[in-house]
Amino acid sequence: MSKKERLDELNKYWQENCKCELRKTATRAVFGNGNPDSQIIFIGEAPGKSEDEQGVPFVGAAGKFLAEMLNSIGLKREDIYITNIVKYRPPNNRDPLPEEKELCNEWLINEIKIISPKLIVFLGRHSMTRFFPTEKISEIHGKLLIKNTGEFGKQAFMPLYHPAAALYNGGMRETLIKDFKKIKVALEKIDHK
Ligand code: URA
Repeated sequence: MSKKERLDELNKYWQENCKCELRKTATRAVFGNGNPDSQIIFIGEAPGKSEDEQGVPFVGAAGKFLAEMLNSIGLKREDIYITNIVKYRPPNNRDPLPEEKELCNEWLINEIKIISPKLIVFLGRHSMTRFFPTEKISEIHGKLLIKNTGEFGKQAFMPLYHPAAALYNGGMRETLIKDFKKIKVALEKIDHK
């Protein structure tokens, strides 16, 4: 079975079986999207209004900024795979609650296992704390981190500020644009996949 077929099967299963309360208020589940053979997965927080309407992650203002940054390092949106910690939009875009993240966790972990990326890029602290619960994004953004995880063995990660947070904050925006350029360098350094 191809990665695409395995992802379709995974999404179908969880769409029917996810117990997350957010299903009741969201329009639809927003599945991961992009190239299943990508070396990189970007993991955001949760779908917002535009994503909930269109059923595709990162299509609103934050998504447009993300696409610009991808272009700046010679990548297109279609080259990478992008998903969220939580697959349903929280009401009024509030932060996802710990139990909501927990209920979507197995879905995300299996998604990552299918893609088997060289590098996992966190967009914002919500996805970072899933794997690095005690770290602060202000201290480790833009750093290449290698960790032995229970789920995927040795894995490379890079935390970045969330594009929605950086969009209207001059200093953070500059930092994110600079950090983004480190993705290419990081990919060349990782030699265990
Ligand atoms: N912000 C996210 O974290 N995810 C999206 O899909 C859109 C905005």
